Amino acid sequence: MTLDLRALIRDVPDFPKPGVGFKDITPILASPQAFQETVDLLVAAAPDDIDVVCGMEARGFIFGAPVALALGASFVPVRKSGKLPRDTVETTYDLEYGTQTLAVHSDAIDEGDRVLIVDDVLATGGTVAATADLVRRLGGALVAVDVVMELAFLEPRALLARHGIDVVHTLV
Ligand code: IMP
Repeated sequence: MTLDLRALIRDVPDFPKPGVGFKDITPILASPQAFQETVDLLVAAAPDDIDVVCGMEARGFIFGAPVALALGASFVPVRKSGKLPRDTVETTYDLEYGTQTLAVHSDAIDEGDRVLIVDDVLATGGTVAATADLVRRLGGALVAVDVVMELAFLEPRALLARHGIDVVHTLV
């Protein structure tokens, strides 16, 4: 099968609020072939010798976990504050309205681990930048970011570059 990711990502107008266009990736998940091929492409884009894959709540879990398995790497869930049961490090960043706090277990990443961040959609880049902050505070080396779709009009790469994140692979 030839994977047409653009056709599989549905545009949902006015969700979650008026004026916002939401990219719905669930049609990819509905097709085992499309899901497998998407994971394969994310894996192919990953640098060598990844120790840890970080996926952000919630859709980063869906793509990050199979990528970690394929790479033989650990999977580390990055969660919203208050969800992880043990000692965490947390970071708070700005959303369009308000702020969000992300957390990771303090022992999830070892000093010097080579870390790959995986998510579904790169919009402003704020979520990836916040995750990079957590990775670095735990001593990890962030080597790349792999996402399925980039909303280039929001210029996430400019924000990521300001956070020293230059290796960003997007499938569409
Ligand atoms: P950012 O922090 O603005 O880059 O937003 C990216 C985060 O929000 C990711 O974790 C995405 O899962 C989620 N997100 C933002 N916009 C969309 C969208 O249109 N579809 C699906 N997820 C989105």
